Amino acid sequence: MNRTAQPEDEHSRAARAADAFHQLYGASPDGVWAAPGRVNLIGEHTDYNDGFALPMALPQTTLLAARARTDGRLRLHSAQGDGRITDLVVADLAPGVVTGWTSYPAGVLWALAGAGYGIGGADLHFDSTVPTGAGLSSSAALECAVAVAYDELYRLALTGPELARIAQRAENGFAGVPCGIMDQMASVCCTAEAALHLDARSPESHRQVPFDLLGQGLRLLVIDTRVTHDLGDGAYASLRAGCERAAALLGLPALRDLPAAELPRALRALPAELAPLVRHVVTENARVGEAVSRLEEGDAAALGPILTAGHASLRDDYRVSCPETDLVVTAALAAGAPGARMTGGGFGGSVIALVEAGRQDAVGRSVTEAFAAAGHRPPHILEATPAAGARRLVL
Ligand code: ADP
Ligand code: MG
Repeated sequence: MNRTAQPEDEHSRAARAADAFHQLYGASPDGVWAAPGRVNLIGEHTDYNDGFALPMALPQTTLLAARARTDGRLRLHSAQGDGRITDLVVADLAPGVVTGWTSYPAGVLWALAGAGYGIGGADLHFDSTVPTGAGLSSSAALECAVAVAYDELYRLALTGPELARIAQRAENGFAGVPCGIMDQMASVCCTAEAALHLDARSPESHRQVPFDLLGQGLRLLVIDTRVTHDLGDGAYASLRAGCERAAALLGLPALRDLPAAELPRALRALPAELAPLVRHVVTENARVGEAVSRLEEGDAAALGPILTAGHASLRDDYRVSCPETDLVVTAALAAGAPGARMTGGGFGGSVIALVEAGRQDAVGRSVTEAFAAAGHRPPHILEATPAAGARRLVL
């Protein structure tokens, strides 16, 4: 089994990022900030329906060593990039001007400037342990690291949800990726040993839900299938449009406004291609509520069947799973995992599996063997614990 080691001590990572910054830019950074990746426990494809989600932050983080500049220039470098420093002018930032990975951090400056905040330039160096393209929101981690650093460097005094909105605007309007608010809210607002109960209609009212995973003898595996099916982007847009059309047909502002009790009637009234989408969104919002109740009662193991039901709904109603994620879920459950589901937008990416402590290797082996038997590359498996949101690190 190909298991990623526990994240390296953040203090030494921060010191290394500061050293690298000095080598690149010839001066010490003003500070080093960290923003985590995330997994969503339950509540998938609900955020753009004004609904609910329950993400937690990962211990894997994107570190940002940053120093403010007074001349309006923006320089960017990433330890995971091609080695080059990208040199931009803040005043010239506009959608389409920047391509590639730098569009995520540059987009945050564009969004801040567009919202009327008085910001200047900076030298930035990133170094991340968040796997990219695995559905763990390395893009939100990049954006949110910039947002919290700029908040401090330019004394903006924004709230967590305000920073998350700026980061989301960067991804939507500048990087051109249509995503909801969940990823950025998780990266900014999560706290250790808790999941974040998010209401996408009012991110300000988010709530920490205690999630004592380890104390309850449980572990959470994140199993990256390393598969991405290309239909992803277009499918996301058409699913989103389908949900909006269904809400309009039902005379509702968003699908979040359809009470579960009215679901059967709504399903009869809707065109056949829209009904399963609506059933997923309504039952998924209910699953978030149920998961929050179980966690508040201190029963983390009860998440298991909720996760598995969520997967069935994404597979059968929303139709965003794929053979590889279905296989991981089946193999994990067969090896005794209390619950498993695909996480993220779908068509590949990662699966989360709740497992009993001590069973991680057995479940990982079963999944890896099933993958090998089907002729797939071995998945990447890491263990997730509910970690803290974006913050400044002490050097
Ligand atoms: P996810 O957010 O699920 O990881 P995305 O496709 O949204 O997947 O974002 C991945 C992209 O973000 C990468 O292809 C890369 O362009 C960029 N990225 C993320 N982290 C870094 C990093 N530390 N350095 C450079 N680019 C990064
Ligand atoms: Mg992303």
